[in-house]
Amino acid sequence: MSDTYPRTLQLHIDGEWIDTGDRKVHHVVNPSTGQTISDLPKANAADLDRALDAADRAFPVWRDTPVNERAAILRKAAELMRERAPDIGRMMTAEQGKPLAQAVGEVTNSANMFDIMAEEAKRCYGRVLVRPAGQQSFVKYQPVGPVAAFSPWNFPVFTPARKLAPALAAGCSIILKPAEETPASPIEMVRCLIDAGLPSGTAQVVFGDPAEVSSHLIASDVIRKVSFTGSVPVGKHLLKLAAEGAKRTTMELGGHAPVLVFDDCDMDKALDLLAVSKFRNAGQVCVSPTRFYVQSAIYEKFATEFTKRAEKVQVGDGFGDNIDMGPLANPRRPAAMEKLIGDARSKGADVRLGGEAMGDDGYFYRPTVLTNVPLDADIMNSEPFGPVAAMRPFDTLDEVIEQANRLPLGLAAYAFTENLRTANIVGDKVEAGMVAINNLTVSPGDAPFGGVKESGHGSEDGPDGLKAYMVMKAIHQS
Ligand code: NAD
Repeated sequence: MSDTYPRTLQLHIDGEWIDTGDRKVHHVVNPSTGQTISDLPKANAADLDRALDAADRAFPVWRDTPVNERAAILRKAAELMRERAPDIGRMMTAEQGKPLAQAVGEVTNSANMFDIMAEEAKRCYGRVLVRPAGQQSFVKYQPVGPVAAFSPWNFPVFTPARKLAPALAAGCSIILKPAEETPASPIEMVRCLIDAGLPSGTAQVVFGDPAEVSSHLIASDVIRKVSFTGSVPVGKHLLKLAAEGAKRTTMELGGHAPVLVFDDCDMDKALDLLAVSKFRNAGQVCVSPTRFYVQSAIYEKFATEFTKRAEKVQVGDGFGDNIDMGPLANPRRPAAMEKLIGDARSKGADVRLGGEAMGDDGYFYRPTVLTNVPLDADIMNSEPFGPVAAMRPFDTLDEVIEQANRLPLGLAAYAFTENLRTANIVGDKVEAGMVAINNLTVSPGDAPFGGVKESGHGSEDGPDGLKAYMVMKAIHQS
């Protein structure tokens, strides 16, 4: 199963791979079995200071490396990631649980992000302003400086890739703290960068107690930018820390994506797409379709057909054959599902499918479909981050737009309709960073990815994701 999983793991600081020594450890658990598979060293305060010092020294060296050389190293790292994707994917499945094919796909998708950013960096043009002869005014982009980045466990490689690739392409040094629960696969991504020739100290990886690491790094004068993906409460906490030093931030804080299914839609297409997407990564996806609003005329049929498809989702160890959905990533998730589903049931929702944990080992949970979920049920208000679809009927376009916008979150939103006017109004009026209509593509890599309202601020991916690691400077000469 986890035969390729490293028995011990390392930090990467100041060009050195660092073993546990006398440091505290975090036990890494395989969520399919609940068994410990490795020990991860936790950085102490001296390690973090050394990483900060190295990031400070590495920044001017990397900033002043010509963009073509920086891009060549990133492209080489992308090649190495593709070559090593089968092994890195196995590590990810062992530590996170997702089906192996999805884990390998995540690694190759992350490699693509390095290619995208390597090319974007070469074309990060500024502008020349109109001035009288003899005078020059121009605007240029420069790297912001050393970055502290914090990434979660649901996409152990892709989420940090979204931070490493643009930061490095822009010319920043970066200290990454991936989630302690899923450390091996992001460590291997950084190894690809080092093996591709990235200078010492330019990309470092630390783990530890998340609150201690983040407060230590963000308090340092060395760090000029903070990037975080995770929950709203932690994001708000890090924003306060960053505000102490007036540091720039990118915050990707999750969502509760509404799905607007109109009675004029291509229902088979909507069902086929949504029933797969809902259970991808066991629903532990910030853009997972979550609040299903289905127009009354097709509500019953849609709920029945969706449930039939959800029944066919094969749940099991991500290393098994033909598995669609692995376990939840940690014991907190099944506990959260029990609470949310119990609350919905007690407030009158119908449990059409699932609603319970599975098996004796690991953190498996049955794909769940809830219908007629009242608006005051917690699951209609807090991000479930699990394999649960919550459905309600609606009648009018105005009503469903109001429903879609009723939460303080706004990351992704989806709609299915064959009516152009409806599509246009949904696109314009739904409060979300990304709206996908008749498809579920919200993260193509070359488009901005990020939320509005409490889902966060700043964009990742594409040219906007690169500029998030740059500052603008206006230079006036005469
Ligand atoms: P959590 O809020 O404790 O942690 C979320 C992530 O933030 C983890 O990776 C964790 O290591 C990190 N973290 C926690 N405290 C931190 C700190 N002080 N400094 C730096 N990093 C810190 O909760 P959790 O149980 O891991 O997940 C709960 C909820 O978080 C989920 O239900 C979901 O809503 C949200 N979440 C969102 C994403 C996303 O992609 N936006 C990913 C993971 C979790």
